[in-house]
Amino acid sequence: MIVYKKDDEIELIRESCLLVCKTLTHVATRIKPGIKGKEIDREAEELIRDHGAKPGFKGYNGFPATLCISVNEQIVHGIPSDEPFKDGDIVSVDCGVYWNYFFGDAAYTFAIGDVDKEIMKLLVVTKDCLYRGIDKAVEGNRIGDIGYAVQNYAEKECGYGVIRELVGHGVGRNLHESPEVPNYGKRGKGQKLKEGLVIAIEPMVNLGDRKIRQSGDGWTVFAKDRSPSAHYEHTIAVRSGNADILSDHAGIEKAIKNNPELKEISIKS
Ligand code: MG
Ligand code: MG
Repeated sequence: MIVYKKDDEIELIRESCLLVCKTLTHVATRIKPGIKGKEIDREAEELIRDHGAKPGFKGYNGFPATLCISVNEQIVHGIPSDEPFKDGDIVSVDCGVYWNYFFGDAAYTFAIGDVDKEIMKLLVVTKDCLYRGIDKAVEGNRIGDIGYAVQNYAEKECGYGVIRELVGHGVGRNLHESPEVPNYGKRGKGQKLKEGLVIAIEPMVNLGDRKIRQSGDGWTVFAKDRSPSAHYEHTIAVRSGNADILSDHAGIEKAIKNNPELKEISIKS
C-alpha cells in the first residue's frame, strides 16, 4: 500500500533529508587517504544524535552502523571498516536518519585523489542518471518512466551494468515503503505518480557486468566481476511540472571543492 504524504509531512521528511545531507557534508570534509570508514561513521552518528535525531540505518534489520560505506567494487550496504581509504578509491556513502517520526535518505559516491579516468566517467554518468530519473518523477508519469531514463542512459548509451536486485523505494514513517523504484523499466508502465508520493531514487551502476554477489558479512553487496560501482541518491516528492528534491547535494559538493583530497563529479550540461 502506498502512503501519500500531506504537505506538512513532506516538510518533516525534508528536515530529515537535510540532516542526512549535513552529515554527508561532514563526511565530505573528512574523507581522504588514510582515514578509516569506522572513524567517519562514529562522527556521523554523533552529529545525528547531537541534533536529537537517530541514525536511520543502525539496527535496521540488524545493520551495525550509521553509514553504509561501499568502496570500489562494493555497490551498497558496506559496513564501515578499519581499512583506511586509499588514493584512487571511490567511496559510496549512504545515510539515513529518523527524526520527528520521518525518515530521510540520500547517498553520494566520492572520488579520492587520483581516480582512473574511466571510473570518473562512471561516477559522472551515474550522477547524471539520478537527475535524468528525477526529471521523470512528476505527476502523470509512471514508475517505469524513471527506470527507463536511468537504464537507457547507463546501459544503452554508456554500456554499463544497471543493478536489478536493489531498487529505490517510498520514504516516510518507514525507511522502505511502497512503491519500489527500479533503475530499469519500460516507459508508461508501472505505478502512476501522484502528488504526495515521496520516493528515494538511487541508481546503482557497475562499470562492468550488472551481476551482484553478497559478501560473507551478510550485508555488503559487490559486483560479481569486481568492477567498480557507483551510487547516488536523492529523496524527492512528486509534484506536477517538477519533482521537489527534498535532499540537497549542494553542501556536499561545496565541501568536495574545499577538500583537496577529493575530485569533483561534474555533469556536463
Ligand atoms: Mg540510501
Ligand atoms: Mg534508499
